[in-house]
Amino acid sequence: MQNIQDYDSHYDAVIVGARCAGAATAMLLARAGANVLLIDRQQYGTDVVSTHALMRAGVMQLARWGLLPEIIAAGTPPVTRTAFHYGQETVPVTIKSEHGVDFLCAPRRTVLDRVLVDAARRAGADVRHGVSLTDLQYGLDGQVTGALLKDGAGGRAGVRADLVIGADGRQSVVARRVNARFNVKGTHSSGYVYGYYEGLPDDGYHWYFENGTAAGAIPTNNGEHCVFAGVHRDQFTNTFRGDLMRGFRRMAAANSPKLAESLDNGQLVGRLRGFSGGVGYLRQCHGPGWALVGDAGYFKDPLTAHGITDAFRDAELLSRAVLAGTTRSLGHYQDERDALSRPLFEVTNTIASFEWDLDQIKQHHGRLIDAMKAEADHIANFSAIDSLAA
Ligand SMILES: Cc1cc2nc3c(=O)[nH]c(=O)nc-3n(C[C@H](O)[C@H](O)[C@H](O)COP(=O)(O)OP(=O)(O)OC[C@H]3O[C@@H](n4cnc5c(N)ncnc54)[C@H](O)[C@@H]3O)c2cc1C
Repeated sequence: MQNIQDYDSHYDAVIVGARCAGAATAMLLARAGANVLLIDRQQYGTDVVSTHALMRAGVMQLARWGLLPEIIAAGTPPVTRTAFHYGQETVPVTIKSEHGVDFLCAPRRTVLDRVLVDAARRAGADVRHGVSLTDLQYGLDGQVTGALLKDGAGGRAGVRADLVIGADGRQSVVARRVNARFNVKGTHSSGYVYGYYEGLPDDGYHWYFENGTAAGAIPTNNGEHCVFAGVHRDQFTNTFRGDLMRGFRRMAAANSPKLAESLDNGQLVGRLRGFSGGVGYLRQCHGPGWALVGDAGYFKDPLTAHGITDAFRDAELLSRAVLAGTTRSLGHYQDERDALSRPLFEVTNTIASFEWDLDQIKQHHGRLIDAMKAEADHIANFSAIDSLAA
């Protein structure tokens, strides 16, 4: 095999996927002195199909890692209010100060992922974009011992590693190669269309619920709002087929005439994007020489806007386990991830069923808020390991 790149011959960890989960894990491990290679087949600073509202625990992690000032300096608006709209009823919420966080935010992925990658690079990680994992290397005992990589020009290289970490999203190649089993699978999923609008009133996160549909407006960079509308994925094709804009506007109006009016008065920037759905899962997330983090190991329906927040949490849990350096600690990573994730996973699956009326969705949100609070309390109480902080 050609060794076309100037890679080191051996890394403590090779991390596949340089977005929320992978870049955060690379940053944390590199800050603790590990020799880390972080690769992504996409280019630096590119976008990804995802809205990007962060919840308290996600903002806490960015603050703890010393990255929040950079996110805000990039023009990400702090969000101090949120409102839940159930049909005609509105429940306003002011973000209170807790665990050192008194605002939420929703940085564009072109900002967030770039800030994380820059932090990983500053910490000493070897970061390569435009490089794909094609396969894993194994020892005689079946342990993963390295990765086979290919760059955009077709050059190939093999690198050895103590640990290969799949942070490569829902279609994870690492998870498939190691046959990571699904321990939990969801039953429901929603589909969305979203886009970026200029000229909407800047008054916090808005989440809209009506029978059979949901929508939201999320303030983000460049004075824009990320606006989405969704339905159960069984309804996705019927709702949006043929004319994305017509389906999107119809669903926005079904959720809230006021939201529809704001869209009439605003201006779409770029094009609408669609996500036709994907059922959630919790996968086995470690084995001999490998681990999974982020969506590669744990995905839930986006309707509760919690994937990035959980990816940060798991980046920190995994990094702590890797630094502890035992198989038992990786087992503890999976146990802790699952214990924190199950309540969120279950209520998200229920919400994604769209089998609720407006009273019931309020109750589901009560369960969601309890699960989010428990998670934020848990993260706030992580034992301090100085090298993982800023
Ligand atoms: C429509 C939608 C809306 C969402 N809204 C929200 C929200 O509002 N808030 C929230 O918190 N979460 C939201 N999420 C969830 C969030 O997007 C994910 O949880 C998050 O992106 C997970 O990050 P990740 O780093 O695990 O994976 P990803 O962001 O999927 O990144 C994986 C990376 O791996 C790379 N990769 C894959 N295979 C290879 C390979 N073989 N070699 C090299 N690189 C590879 C890819 O190029 C990619 O860059 C939403 C998701 C969707 C789909």
